[in-house]
Amino acid sequence: MFEVRLSRIQALSDSTRDFQFIREDGEHLDYVPGQFYRFVFEDLDGEFERSYSLCNFDELYGDTLDLVISKVEGGRATRLLFDCEEGLTAQVTGPFGRLVLPDENPGRLIMVATSVGLAPFMPMLKALETRDMNKVVLLLGVRDHTEFIYGDLLRQYAQAHDYFEVRFCISREPPRAPDECSGYVTEQLKALDPVADTDHLLLCGNPAMIDDAWGYLKEKNFRPKKVVREKYVFAREKKTAKALTEDQKKLIHEKMKKYS
Ligand SMILES: Cc1cc2nc3c(=O)[nH]c(=O)nc-3n(C[C@H](O)[C@H](O)[C@H](O)COP(=O)(O)OP(=O)(O)OC[C@H]3O[C@@H](n4cnc5c(N)ncnc54)[C@H](O)[C@@H]3O)c2cc1C
Repeated sequence: MFEVRLSRIQALSDSTRDFQFIREDGEHLDYVPGQFYRFVFEDLDGEFERSYSLCNFDELYGDTLDLVISKVEGGRATRLLFDCEEGLTAQVTGPFGRLVLPDENPGRLIMVATSVGLAPFMPMLKALETRDMNKVVLLLGVRDHTEFIYGDLLRQYAQAHDYFEVRFCISREPPRAPDECSGYVTEQLKALDPVADTDHLLLCGNPAMIDDAWGYLKEKNFRPKKVVREKYVFAREKKTAKALTEDQKKLIHEKMKKYS
């Protein structure tokens, strides 16, 4: 476990911000691009934990952790993070997770993300610059153009690297550019016609999207090893013990009388 301090906040859209934390111990990060960390924050109700993927791109192994976080209505971490200032501290454990690049270059590497599920793919794209990739396709699902986080950066990356193609899948607005299409990422996934023997898939974000995509890929004979999935499931708060009902209390009282 190590302590981090919030060193920079940048708005990426109305609902999404980039939070940069810096390690207080000055040590460098030791993780595999794609992995996530668990953050223990503290608010007026005490400590609570949330997981966040590392979204580092400019510097992968320095002493800073870049997170891209979207607001969740009524969310506890949302309340704290979207109303805080630089200097906020957290305890961090990790890295965790199996959503990482395959050791061997596949025929096609297909990355599928919804919204901030893009985060783990950013350090992976940086790491891919030193590998001799055949083809990498990123399908990014967003609702509208305000959610185009890192859109410019992804387009620049596509121009600079022949092996990379990005398709923005927009569900609530018509497309405006050749690399945009309307609808969900699963429709574009089907259009790519993935091949079980040669392609490798990485899926991240909305659990419903991942279930849909995985359902389709299973029909195409993909084995789980070739389709690594990371669902951004919501954290469950620890349940408090429920009070006993009157009937339960009576039963326990009778049993204790019997054995005493
Ligand atoms: C491995 C992993 C990596 C993750 N990485 C990221 C990341 O890089 N960026 C990021 O923004 N999030 C990420 N998450 C999600 C993150 O951990 C939190 O769940 C999220 O920030 C919401 O926390 P909160 O405390 O604001 O909301 P909570 O207090 O947990 O939730 C408040 C209410 O909203 C519901 N809810 C929570 N999230 C959503 C949602 N997305 N859509 C609809 N309803 C919701 C809950 O069921 C609850 O009723 C990741 C999750 C996992 C498991």
